[in-house]
Amino acid sequence: MSVGRIHLLINNEEISTENYMEVRDPGRLSDVVGLVAKGSTQHVGMAVEAAHQAFLSWRKTPLHERMALLKQAASLLEKEASDLAVMVSRENGMLLSTTKLEITHLAISAIKNTVELAQTFFQETRVEDAQSWVSVEKRPIGVIAGIVPWNAPLVLTMQKVAPALIAGNTIVIKPSPFAPMGASTVLKKMAALFPPGVISVIHGDADVGKALTTHPLVRKVSFTGGGRTAAHVMRDAADALKSVHFELGGNDPAIVLDDANLDEVVPKIAAGVFRRSGQVCFAIKRIYVPQYLYDSFHAKLCEYVESFKIGHGLNEQATFGPLNNKQQYQYVQDLTARLKNSQATVTHLGTKLEPDNWENGYYLQPAVVRDVEPGQEIVTCEQFGPVIPLISYRTEEEVVEMANQTEYGLGSSVWSADPDRALRLARDLEAGMTFVNGHGQTPLGYRHMPFGGVKQSGIGRENGEVGLAEYIEYHAINLHRTT
Ligand code: NAD
Repeated sequence: MSVGRIHLLINNEEISTENYMEVRDPGRLSDVVGLVAKGSTQHVGMAVEAAHQAFLSWRKTPLHERMALLKQAASLLEKEASDLAVMVSRENGMLLSTTKLEITHLAISAIKNTVELAQTFFQETRVEDAQSWVSVEKRPIGVIAGIVPWNAPLVLTMQKVAPALIAGNTIVIKPSPFAPMGASTVLKKMAALFPPGVISVIHGDADVGKALTTHPLVRKVSFTGGGRTAAHVMRDAADALKSVHFELGGNDPAIVLDDANLDEVVPKIAAGVFRRSGQVCFAIKRIYVPQYLYDSFHAKLCEYVESFKIGHGLNEQATFGPLNNKQQYQYVQDLTARLKNSQATVTHLGTKLEPDNWENGYYLQPAVVRDVEPGQEIVTCEQFGPVIPLISYRTEEEVVEMANQTEYGLGSSVWSADPDRALRLARDLEAGMTFVNGHGQTPLGYRHMPFGGVKQSGIGRENGEVGLAEYIEYHAINLHRTT
């Protein structure tokens, strides 16, 4: 396959730079997937200036025009889906089937759902009496900096682009250096539908991210990524008192109640743990099981996980892909190695589909860890990889306390044959989202659930009306009637 070059996108023009970063296939490290332009502080300045100029007129375009253009953007994504999915799977290592679904179900819905909401969301509300009227109007904020990670680059990008643009903002996107190509390629095509400067794309590492978040004309930073980076972003945004929106990491508990049917729930829990090889912000990261079910749950989970076939994302037989990058690969390996010094038992499972290619990628076997202590590192950290601890508990009070003993608070799930019982427990959990008898949104959930976390898992929400509200300012007008 040929090696493409991706440039920066400023004012709808492709801008080449002095340095290009290699993007390697995490499932075949000997393959360079593409070369991506590395921007500088000057490039960030150019992109933000262009976005600011574009904002001055884009904000005045009628809502129905913005809606029509975003509908075209959704159609474009639909048309590009097959080629795009291959490119993304090659750069971030995810299974092709997963990436296809990310585009066709999630990224496209992110745009369409936003467009559908817009008509009622932006309706003017007015109250009046004999002396005056008051109108509370929703206005765009200005230039938005959208910073995204590598694990699900297309949906996470569209979840920012769609609400930002429909509200009349312009956006400068900085994709992750670990998955910059798919997002850039489609954003370049999308940007051509809009006036120049409405969508810009800048590439680079932390220095470029910092230049973006500190630029005085950026009015809001919408960041998805790790909590440690978010703390830098918050400090950088503080000087200009910028608003921040954070979608961060999680340590989601799955709580299995004693009446759960294990044959039914184990495959669903395993999917909640291991999709994208565990590299999902709201993947299940710890499983709580009643003491008397512990052994049978462990056996059934191991049996299920053993069926995973580990291979390259484009290998149609693979049901489990590699990790995305060296840092993450090393982190998960070290974390698992440290378990050797404890009483825990680690079982590595799954079949290696391509043994000859194993060392040529960031491949890890999925692992199940039993006999862990509730406060052990593997339970309290965000592993963001394919290793899952099982913790036993005795009472509901005890498990709620253990589940809440964390600085994270993204997702969570409760598994029971009795939904009312599960719901009672769900309401005691400190999380932005709780799923009952599943771990992830149904299509209805994707449409209506504000996505995000409490505590250190985030500030603000994405999706739905609450998510759209992240991209507006309120302008209140009070007219004094004259007699
Ligand atoms: P990361 O924080 O390392 O990087 C995220 C983005 O920030 C990248 O584009 C990176 O280049 C950029 N960046 C790095 N330093 C910066 C700085 N100083 N200023 C501005 N930008 C900077 O995260 P990652 O490794 O790409 O992604 C994994 C993390 O993202 C995990 O913690 C995961 O849970 C989280 N995540 C959260 C969600 C969510 O919706 N809550 C979704 C996906 C991933």
